[in-house]
Amino acid sequence: MKKGYFGEFGGCFVPELLMPPLMELEQAMADILPSEAFQSELHGLLKHFAGRATPLTFCPALSRELGFELWLKREDLLHTGAHKINNTLGQALLAKYMGKSALIAETGAGQHGVATAAAAARLGLRCTVYMGAEDVERQSANVRRMKLLGAEVHPIESGSRTLKDAINAALRAWISEQHDTHYCFGTAAGPYPFPDLVREFQSVIGREARAQMLEHTGAFPDYVVAAVGGGSNAIGMFVPFVPDTGVKLIGVEAGGTGRPGCLHSAAINLGRPGVLHGEYTMLLQDEHGQIQPSSSISAGLDYPGVGPEHAFLHSTGRVKYGIAFDHEALAAFQKLCRSEGILPALESSHALAYVLEHRGEFEPNSRVLVNLSGRGDKDMDIIGRALGD
Ligand SMILES: *Cc1c(COP(=O)(O)O)cnc(C)c1O
Repeated sequence: MKKGYFGEFGGCFVPELLMPPLMELEQAMADILPSEAFQSELHGLLKHFAGRATPLTFCPALSRELGFELWLKREDLLHTGAHKINNTLGQALLAKYMGKSALIAETGAGQHGVATAAAAARLGLRCTVYMGAEDVERQSANVRRMKLLGAEVHPIESGSRTLKDAINAALRAWISEQHDTHYCFGTAAGPYPFPDLVREFQSVIGREARAQMLEHTGAFPDYVVAAVGGGSNAIGMFVPFVPDTGVKLIGVEAGGTGRPGCLHSAAINLGRPGVLHGEYTMLLQDEHGQIQPSSSISAGLDYPGVGPEHAFLHSTGRVKYGIAFDHEALAAFQKLCRSEGILPALESSHALAYVLEHRGEFEPNSRVLVNLSGRGDKDMDIIGRALGD
């Protein structure tokens, strides 16, 4: 495959002034990532700071009800509450090895901002987070967390004042700060080499889960299911299983309310190819190619695009992409709380919702592995309002 591409998707569509830091990053990935020193320091951080390896949890009550085995990969148990810390620790450490003294990051709901701020604090790097002004207002608890962790938060007033505009602002800032700053991108999307870099740091999820399934059941799962926002937890879970052709892979996009004409975040199912944030991928856009606003009850899935490798895996048919609606995710959230004693993030609840709503699609007695990408504590206000209490 052409460098930086997944089939026809991916690439590096950026202003010329961004090419030098992206090329420097590509070089650092080749020189630093494979080194013994880097790998062992990253392994230590993931183990002693973030809490890896995460457990694999069997769900006895739900399995009985569903007629197949339901297993969860517990990324919700990581420090800062989700898989995002795998990526930010990796990129922060890489930045340090590259001689950088600062990180910039974009954030939507604030989860990636918090994970970046935590990694930066731990590794002694300055941290600036770009965040849409609308999101700053909506996500004040995460803004406070970032500030407590020593990060500076820059509200962005342009455009729709949300994640898309924050990414544009961060890319622009990187042009002038590239000499001492690394841009810690939050998902497996954006210009090459970010999709490769983020996949590299998140694939620890799938490598662990694959070995754990073998250890616990003596076999691979029959199905692996993960929620897809930008696509980082899903790609990290899927990629180690892609060569195992007997394992069916299912990505789940956010369908919004499901009412006719509603806003949603299902870029693969309902979008068209185009260019955004430096990559050619599936996007929500109108007939003139203008990016359409996305929407989801889960802030982490609320993005109008998707990483290019998912667009590719969809085009080849290796991964199937389904949809879960807001109310289905809420029902799945409540179900997991009551049946298994686990409060999942609303993002992860979409993956679970697909399994519950489409239970007839799964072979009886098969093994279904769901990536529980994060914990639901951050969603208590939204869930309280949605459930009317
Ligand atoms: C951010 C987030 C997601 C969505 O991001 P991906 O890059 O698609 O993984 C999913 N789950 C949780 C818990 C998140 O915080």
